[in-house]
Amino acid sequence: MNKEYTLEQWEEEMKANPISLKLSNGSSFAFGRNLPCPQCKTIGFYGPRKDPIDNPTRKYRACKFCGFWQDIWGKNIEKTGGKPYQCIMVICKNCQTYDWRADWAFYLGSCPKCHATMEKAQWPSKNPNHPYCKIRDEIIKFLQAQ
Ligand SMILES: [Zn+2]
Ligand SMILES: [Zn+2]
Repeated sequence: MNKEYTLEQWEEEMKANPISLKLSNGSSFAFGRNLPCPQCKTIGFYGPRKDPIDNPTRKYRACKFCGFWQDIWGKNIEKTGGKPYQCIMVICKNCQTYDWRADWAFYLGSCPKCHATMEKAQWPSKNPNHPYCKIRDEIIKFLQAQ
């Protein structure tokens, strides 16, 4: 896995096409870019990201399929030293909605829709029954059809 990640690489990756498609269930999907995740190689869930509202100087990359996260700019560098870390995925079992937490600031939190307490979820990369695995398959077909 490539652990070196520079601002130049982040800027280069920001030029990759975003992946955005309508899924067969009618919802739209736009998590990542047309780049394979350095850890799990999945395309569509990984990409360079900004956090303009909560943390405007933050620049990072993240994969919502396996939890590979790496900050390269902004206040989280103090916590991570710029090294990759494993993010934690949480789910609201009522609404089937997900959210993501850094391990050094872990809290379950509550669902923004129904206010139930979130639970820890398994990453799709470790759970073939995760609904994101179906989305991954749809992305592969979408890219093949282009
Ligand atoms: Zn990944
Ligand atoms: Zn909920």
